[in-house]
Amino acid sequence: MTKLADWFETSNDATKVLLRLGARPDVISLAGGLPAPELFPGDAVADAFAHVARSAPAVSLQYGPAEGIEPLRALIAAQMRKEGAGSVTAENVLITTGSQQGLTLIGQTLLNKGDRIALDEPTFLGALDAWRPREPGYTAIDWSGNTPVFKPSSDAETMPKFAYCLPNFRNPTGETMTLDARKALVAAAQRDDVILIEDNPYGALRYEGVQPASLISIADQGGDGPYDGHVIYTGTVSKTLAPALRVGWMVVPQRLLHGLIISKQGLDLCTSPLTQYAALHLIETGVEAETSERARDLYRIRRDAMLAALEAEMPAGVTWTRPEGGMFVWVTLPEGTDAHDIFQRAADARVAIVPGDVFYAMNPAHNTMRLNFTNVPEATIAEAVQRLAGVIEGRARN
Ligand code: PMP
Repeated sequence: MTKLADWFETSNDATKVLLRLGARPDVISLAGGLPAPELFPGDAVADAFAHVARSAPAVSLQYGPAEGIEPLRALIAAQMRKEGAGSVTAENVLITTGSQQGLTLIGQTLLNKGDRIALDEPTFLGALDAWRPREPGYTAIDWSGNTPVFKPSSDAETMPKFAYCLPNFRNPTGETMTLDARKALVAAAQRDDVILIEDNPYGALRYEGVQPASLISIADQGGDGPYDGHVIYTGTVSKTLAPALRVGWMVVPQRLLHGLIISKQGLDLCTSPLTQYAALHLIETGVEAETSERARDLYRIRRDAMLAALEAEMPAGVTWTRPEGGMFVWVTLPEGTDAHDIFQRAADARVAIVPGDVFYAMNPAHNTMRLNFTNVPEATIAEAVQRLAGVIEGRARN
């Protein structure tokens, strides 16, 4: 039988390998980033599709505008205004086929070959995948001084094209940016005229505490709109309804809209209008709000189970983040431990994790790993962490 670890070593495609690992019934997977399937509102989704196909076939089954259907754009704009981005209008909203497509569109529109991107690493693997065809350079945002810096002063290069940010429950670390950091970041972006990408797929999944203001609400200069600030915001229904709908959105400064809409048209003409109308119906009838409420309740329990198990089981020298929301805990192993080695041994113990180095664009920390807590029940999480701790402890003793 092929060892699980061999799959990882023989494939360059970490995402594909993780999905394959997670699909094995004998393996407890803390590796993926999947919502709990028991939350999916199957009947409501079936009803929504039936309703929109029956009641409005002329629009729901036709090609739609590249920028998305007007009522969904208006609804998202209203939500953004309610959350503090007061000048956002429907014109600013571009519906995408998942927020992943927004990242691809940003790469296609803003990046020329060899351009730079500033970010905090580790970062979202899918964003690195989206931009790879442009062969960008990367710079770590420097947080060491009074104000974040997007390029080293020794660097002769021009400013990065944009800075990519995950302010809420960052994938992969679970960390949240403080309000002060957010304000400083927006001020720096305005000073240096750098666009910030605010990727926020997990914002609705907060289990405790108060959400700091979004970057876009801080950057919004007010007025009647359309919004034309320094932040592009991306959102999605993947974590609040179901990833399979593939409905996401970008909130785009007015000056960048035209290029992004043309790019979107070139990619797929439009996001399926049938799905957009169904998603709109699911939001308007409260199914999305109710599903994300249930997700918060379930994931809070699972996060607590994972943190309790880590506390109880992990040997000295292992540290981890304590996320206030989202889907992931980030574990740092003792210096000198190779997480690929742990991955291999954990796979033999039938537990899947992701070695952290895959989430780096520049300087990988090889003693890190990402654990997901949303896709497995509490008791199984405890079992998986116990096995993992045994593997790490065994390794430390060798
Ligand atoms: N951004 C981040 C940080 C993610 O973790 C994900 C996927 N989980 C996405 C974007 C893409 O999500 P989707 O395309 O399903 O909206």
